[in-house]
This record gives sequence, structure tokens and C-alpha cells, in this order.
Amino acid sequence: MSVVGVDVGASKIAAGTVSPSGEILSGARYPTPNSSAELLETIARAILEASDGFEVGGACLAVPGLILARENRVIYSPNLHAIEGIRLKEELEPKAGLPLTIENDNSAAAWGEFRFGAGSGAGHLVFVGLGTGIGGGVVADGSLLSGVQGAAGELGHVTVQTTGPRCACGNRGCLEAFASGSAIGRRAREVAAEHPDSALARLAARRPIHGEDVTDLAQRGDDLALWVLEEAGTWLGVGLAGFVNVFNPEVVAVGGGAMEAGELILKAARREVMLRARPPLRDLAEIKAATLGSKSGVLGAAALARDASSGGYLLGS
Ligand SMILES: [Zn+2]
Repeated sequence: MSVVGVDVGASKIAAGTVSPSGEILSGARYPTPNSSAELLETIARAILEASDGFEVGGACLAVPGLILARENRVIYSPNLHAIEGIRLKEELEPKAGLPLTIENDNSAAAWGEFRFGAGSGAGHLVFVGLGTGIGGGVVADGSLLSGVQGAAGELGHVTVQTTGPRCACGNRGCLEAFASGSAIGRRAREVAAEHPDSALARLAARRPIHGEDVTDLAQRGDDLALWVLEEAGTWLGVGLAGFVNVFNPEVVAVGGGAMEAGELILKAARREVMLRARPPLRDLAEIKAATLGSKSGVLGAAALARDASSGGYLLGS
């Protein structure tokens, strides 16, 4: 049976009816409103529009932030405050007329990559999403790792250096503070100040520089930009080496907007994993780019909804 996956983002809400094989059969897309009431109305409208004309068994919302999936509740969502604390299941099920679950967007992406993407065919996968921040999701022994509150997989907030930069979560030296898109932007601004004759410094003199500017310059062969990405990739690899040791995955899929840089980040990460993770765990773990891209929210949420409605991962967890 088909299901609806909903990607609730800070700027847009996308819903799609998805077939059991992962084909998106229909879609609806709206800008994300600011108020909680309008947000609920818009999510419900997107579900109804996407499911119109299909026999649909359930829906799942992929939401950014700290999610207590077992309570279907969003505790904290820094770019989407309107969704915090709402009883999403109770509010939306009557409006949408479907059983509904909530999941963190990166955990949903992990499940999507496991079902339809970079990890399809594998039983053990770690997904790391490099965006403005860093999120993650872990599929262990064929199940999405949930934790007691349904909040497991906060891989971006593992400390990789005790005295490192302050992270958005309040801790110091999180992986997110070294290897996220915003960390790459911050590092580029520091490096630009140290190298006033560089292309990064010339760009910084005209406007604020961000992570994507570094990728742009690096792809055109700029040495300093390449070095900034290599440094971020090295820190990413420090984190991944830990995840390889802890979870013993077959596939480590790295996605998110900052993966526009692709191998310019991943090559350094792989090298670091080989230096730090334990053999033979490190030898089996394939570190590669995620493949679902911007569809990971809708496809991952749909895969979760389908597996929940068929007595899959939720009943087993
Ligand atoms: Zn943090």
C-alpha cells in the first residue's frame, strides 16, 4: 500500500504519496508558515492534496530538530519554532484522516537511504547529514535506532575536541562546530582574515562568505578553499571513525547541502577513518555520498510510514 511522506522544512513543506518501491506518485508543496495554527493547516492540506486519488495507509512527518519520536513531539527546532511542543499526532490525524508518526529529518533520511538509497541491500547503516548543522540517523541490525525517547542519532553533537568552538547546542567542540556548512563558513572567514591576498579574502571584502562559497572556490581549484574543506573533512572523519567503532556499519552515507563539495570533503574523512577506526571494522565500512538528495525527507518519511503501518520498525522497537 502507498503512504505519504512529508518533509517539514524551515522554508517549505513537501508531501508525496510514495509507492512501496519508493516511487513518488504525487506531490504537494507549500511555503512554511510562521504560526503554529497555519503550520498545522498547511501540513494537513499538503497531505490531503498529495494523497488525493490514492489508497493510502498512513503518513510520517520528517521534522528538523530534537524530536521525541516515541511521543510524536518536537522539543526544539531552532529554525522552525512554530512546530515546537504541538501535539502533532492528535492535531493532524483528524484533519488528515490517516495514522501519523513523527521522526527527526536525519533519522528519516537514514531510513530512506537504507530502503531506497546508498544503503539499500545493507543491514547496518550510519547516515550523517551535513547541513547548516549536522544531524544523523543509525540503522542497526535492520532497525532504526530509537533510544528510550526516540531521540537517538544526534551524531553532530558528539564532542571531537573539548576546547573547540561553541556549538549551537551549547556544548563546546561538537562535530557540528567543525564540519557543518556553517562551521565551514566560519572557518573560511577566519582563514580569509589570515590570508588577505587570497580569493576568500577578496570575496569576504565584498560580502559575508558562507560554506557554499568555499565549495564554489574549491571546485575552481582554489588552494585555500580546498584546504578549508579538507580540514572539515578531517574533522568529519574523526567523528565517523567513532561511529564506525560504535556501530560497525557496512555503509556510512553522508548527505545534506554541504555534500555539494562531495569528494573534496569525503576523501579526507575516509583517510581519517582509516587512521583512527579499528580494523577490521574500518575495512568493511564504505563511506560514500547519500543518493536521495532533496527527496530524502519525503522518501525517508514514507518508508517509515509504510514500515510502521505494516507492523515494521515501530512495533519492533
Ligand atoms: Zn552541539
